[in-house]
Amino acid sequence: MHRQASPLLHDYKPASTTEPNKSRAFKWFAVGLGLPLLGLALISTLDAPNKAIEPASDAPVMTAIEGEAISPVETAGDAVFSPTPLVLAPEPEFESLTLTIRSGDTLDQLFRKHNLDLGHLTTIASLEEASQRLRKIKPGDVFEITHDNGKLVSMYSALSLTSALRINREETGFSAQLIERPIEKRKRNGHGVIQTSLFESAAEAGMSDKVIMNIAGIFAWDVDFVLDIRSGDSFYVQYEEIWQDGEFITDGEIVAAEFNNDGSTHRAIRFVDDSGRTDYFTPGGHSVRKAFIRAPVDFTRISSNFNPRRRHPILNTIRAHRGVDYAAPRGTPIKASGDGKVIFRGVKSGYGNAVILQHGGNITTLYAHMSKFAAKARVGARVRQGQTIGYVGKTGLATANHLHYEYRVSGVHRNPRTVELPKADPIAEKYRERFLATTAPILEELERFKSTKLATVAFADQ
Ligand SMILES: [Zn+2]
Repeated sequence: MHRQASPLLHDYKPASTTEPNKSRAFKWFAVGLGLPLLGLALISTLDAPNKAIEPASDAPVMTAIEGEAISPVETAGDAVFSPTPLVLAPEPEFESLTLTIRSGDTLDQLFRKHNLDLGHLTTIASLEEASQRLRKIKPGDVFEITHDNGKLVSMYSALSLTSALRINREETGFSAQLIERPIEKRKRNGHGVIQTSLFESAAEAGMSDKVIMNIAGIFAWDVDFVLDIRSGDSFYVQYEEIWQDGEFITDGEIVAAEFNNDGSTHRAIRFVDDSGRTDYFTPGGHSVRKAFIRAPVDFTRISSNFNPRRRHPILNTIRAHRGVDYAAPRGTPIKASGDGKVIFRGVKSGYGNAVILQHGGNITTLYAHMSKFAAKARVGARVRQGQTIGYVGKTGLATANHLHYEYRVSGVHRNPRTVELPKADPIAEKYRERFLATTAPILEELERFKSTKLATVAFADQ
């Protein structure tokens, strides 16, 4: 069954839903727009730490050679260090201290409060590897410190799930190093049969909201999870759990999933290409996505539809409205509706701050009245579907905060809410063989899991 379901979730009024659990239904309504992207968004969040640490492995370890303030003689202290060689690792007699940043804290204040050497703070803050971390602290950040009567010996702070900063006092000063914190991915299978909602069935199956949202995000292009769900619909999923040092951290990506909805079966399987980009395809290699999101902003309502003869609210003349206006609070992120290239960014008369993207198939999209642009969406930059390109505002001819969104095919304006959206590209030809080879065993595993579940059901029925 192919319908342009989820991106249109917002076209349905939440009040009209017959979903028994209203808050859930509304939750679905509210997340509807985000869903098609959610899978991707979560993936990029998970990916980000991995990417962030890449430079670290290549980067040289920076060593401060700023002499005087931290000469070994001065900092070592006779009792602790033998003159040569210098002991670098923290010793048990050092005091340890955990600093947790709260709102309004500065490291400077915290160093003062705990009688730590401020000169050391200045020195380590100037280390290339450490400076960014130490300048941009935020509530919740944790710094584990060892010191010797206020003289800093070491400092450790997690930067992300997979990386951390470590500072050590060395013979010649301080060294700062970005270190990897390895994570382990464990596979888990999940299965649920829907009675009332996807959420409830998955919760019963012991799965977190995150996994459920990911499943919904992947199938959102084909299944409307508010309106299309039928009692008896079922799903099978294989997903990752992220573990670190033997502890469960969080649920990770979906590896493969099957969703049986009202008699039709949808399957999706993950593929990560050489650039690290994750996407989901059918077992045959077709994309499960469309090339465009229907509405590129999380909006509160549609304030003006595509209308060739509309009275302009400010100009008070009949003027074609060649886009859709999505009302949303100022600052709401505006997403690129499809992969493309920024061909315009700037002030464009009545449009105010606007961005125009060029996509494949001679399609362009325009986003107007932005309060500000996203830094990365510069002219010439490539953007991904779902990437934030700017923020809702009311620059140009606009009476209230909203996104004015246009979709043109070969220069002709089409109604963004009804135009038939092209499917996203299938698996690239160069990956096809690898895709089939790597996904076959995963699909087999999913089938095996499915048959054990079906067998259990059959047994229980007797
Ligand atoms: Zn408009």
